[in-house]
Amino acid sequence: MIPTIPTPDELLDKGFSRGKKQADLLRSQKIPKHLKGKRIEERRVVTSCQVIKDKLKSIIDAVPEIESLHPFYQDYIDITVGVDDMKQALGGLNWAYGIITQLEKEYGAKIRKNPSEKATAIQKQAYGRIASVVGKIKKDLDFLDFAKQNLRNMPTIDFEATTIVIAGFPNVGKSTLLRQITEAEPQVANYPFTTKGIQIGHTEMHWKHIQIIDTPGLLDRPILEMNDIEMNAIVALEHLADAILFIFDASETCGFHLDNQYNLLKQIEKIFSDVPVIYLFNKMDLVEDAEYLNQYIDDEENSIFISAIEGEGIDKINKKINRIKKIERNFDEEDDEYY
Ligand code: GDP
Repeated sequence: MIPTIPTPDELLDKGFSRGKKQADLLRSQKIPKHLKGKRIEERRVVTSCQVIKDKLKSIIDAVPEIESLHPFYQDYIDITVGVDDMKQALGGLNWAYGIITQLEKEYGAKIRKNPSEKATAIQKQAYGRIASVVGKIKKDLDFLDFAKQNLRNMPTIDFEATTIVIAGFPNVGKSTLLRQITEAEPQVANYPFTTKGIQIGHTEMHWKHIQIIDTPGLLDRPILEMNDIEMNAIVALEHLADAILFIFDASETCGFHLDNQYNLLKQIEKIFSDVPVIYLFNKMDLVEDAEYLNQYIDDEENSIFISAIEGEGIDKINKKINRIKKIERNFDEEDDEYY
């Protein structure tokens, strides 16, 4: 998404050395003596400006327009590096591009107008100004380099697919389940505020593409304890989820009492208020008294007893998943509820 970002010195070196090379090519050419010095310095300044401008433009063009991205990515970029800072940095590069275009014209003309003896001095002036402009965007180049490092390994989301987000306390069996209901190894990508990253598994059901997302470290702990930024990381997921798979560890061997697990569920339901939930009671192979679970079941129709490790109940989950409808969210409209 973001190409390699040069430092100001690298950018100037590249421009000036190419300028020198191109100018040197003129030295062996037959040019009237009174014009030669001017031609050489003009070529030097113009080439340097163009090389620097080309590099700036290639960076500006390679970074996608943030507003054109899916809200999930807009949020992702905002949480990870800050959308405003990103816009400001790109604005800085645009500014430098404009000024260098002016300098190229201004100093090209100045060299042409003056006698050859003055050409070198004018070229030096031009270089001084170019260097000063490039120096002024140091913080922008630094920021884009920081953004490049931080936006590396962003999750690849298929926005056409039906998307299911897994939630539940640690060790309830989320990743075991993800592996049971998806094909191949899940994709592991970075996600803000999750140390283990986000895991995305894919499966096809009746020609429908389904992606299942597990977010270790995010939807597995009390939401009331989260800070604003972590909440934003959850809101980004809200743009994607067509359903939530909430996993209870019915055996409580994960170390969390069912009362607490139920509380987490309620918090998640509050945040994802428009998203349907499928309730999975996992590790049933370890449970003797299933009666006890009744108090935690609000919606019998959408509750399934499973054993992820033994593959028990997976077919029932698949049947439910198959019926999930993609939530239509119109992000393009101006009066969009999110923006
Ligand atoms: P996560 O942290 O929620 O992703 O949980 P994991 O999938 O890593 O599972 C935590 C532990 O529970 C692992 O040791 C799993 O083998 C175990 N586990 C997961 N599902 C079941 C199950 O259905 N029955 C039993 N007995 N153990 C399970």
